[in-house]
Amino acid sequence: MRALLLDMPNEVRIADLPVPLCLDGEVLVKVLGVGVCGSDLSVFKGHRQVPSYPWQMGHEAVGEIVGLGHGVNDREVGERVVIEPNYCCFTCGECLSGNTSGCLNRVIVGMAAPGVIAEYISVPSAFAWKVPSSLSVKEMICLEPLTVGAAALRRSGAKDGDKTLVIGAGSSGLSLISLLLSKGFSTYFIETKPGRSALATRIGALIHETGERYDQVFECSGTADGAQQAISLAADGATITLVGLSASPIEVVPSDLVRRRLTIVGSMIYDHPADFREMLHHIPEAISEIVGAKFTLDDAQMAFEGASEVPGKSWISLDDKGAYS
Ligand SMILES: [Zn+2]
Ligand SMILES: [Zn+2]
Repeated sequence: MRALLLDMPNEVRIADLPVPLCLDGEVLVKVLGVGVCGSDLSVFKGHRQVPSYPWQMGHEAVGEIVGLGHGVNDREVGERVVIEPNYCCFTCGECLSGNTSGCLNRVIVGMAAPGVIAEYISVPSAFAWKVPSSLSVKEMICLEPLTVGAAALRRSGAKDGDKTLVIGAGSSGLSLISLLLSKGFSTYFIETKPGRSALATRIGALIHETGERYDQVFECSGTADGAQQAISLAADGATITLVGLSASPIEVVPSDLVRRRLTIVGSMIYDHPADFREMLHHIPEAISEIVGAKFTLDDAQMAFEGASEVPGKSWISLDDKGAYS
C-alpha cells in the first residue's frame, strides 16, 4: 500500500509499505482522507520530536471499514468511520475517573505511534466511530477537530445566551465557531490572517469590536498574545477556555483574576467515549465550509508546506488520484 513517510524535517515521500495486520479487537480501515492540522505541521517542521525517522505522519483519518479483527462482533465491513486518534488505556487512575485526555499511557497517533497517512490502517474498534452515511468525506474530515471544539464547549460550562469570543480561526477555532453558531450562541472572533477572517465571517461569526467583553472566551490561536487577549476581553465572572497550546509565558495579575471573578479552564483534546459520541449527535450543517484546500497523496509535500497560509482546513485525499483543488 502507499503511505506517507517523513524522512527528515520538511521532507516527505511516498513509500510502499505492507498493509497492517488487523489484530484482535481492531478494525482494518481503508483511509479515504486525512486532515492536516497544526500539530502535524509541528512534526513536519521538526518542532515536535517523533520517536524515529522515517516517520509515518498524520492523525485525522476518516475511512471505511474493510476488515474485522478477532472478537469484533458489533461492527460491519462498509461502515464509514472517523478515527479518534488518542487511544487511552482504560486502566489508569485518570481513565477510571473519566478523564481519558489525561491518560498516563495515552497512545497519540501520528506523534508517538505511527500515523494514518496510508491507504490502510488498523485501529482499535472503540476508536473508529461510525458516522452517518450521508456525510461526504470532506464533511467527515471536520469531525475530529469538531470534537476538540465540542469538548472545549462542554468544559467551559457555557449556557444559553452567553456571548462568546473565539480567538484564532485556524481549523480548531473555525470548528468551534461553527459549533457555537449552530447552537445559537452569539459568536465573535479575532483573527489576524485575512483569508481565515473572511471564512469565519462567511460562516456567520462577527468580528470583535473594541470595547466588547464576553461571557465565554475560547483561546484557539495557540499564541501568548491570544491568551493575554483572552483574559483582557473576558467580562466579569467570565470563563476563559484555553484550547491552543502556547509555550510562552503571559502576564497575569492575580488580584485582577480575583476581582473580576474569572475562571480559566484548560481544555486538552477530548475524553473517551463521551466527546466523540456527543459530537456525532450534533454536527453543524455548515461544517464542510471550514475545509479549504484538498491535496492528493502525491501533493502531500505541498499540503504541509502551504497549510499554515491557506484559509480553512487542508486535507489529503486518498480516495482519488486527480489533481488537487
Ligand atoms: Zn489535529
Ligand atoms: Zn489511562
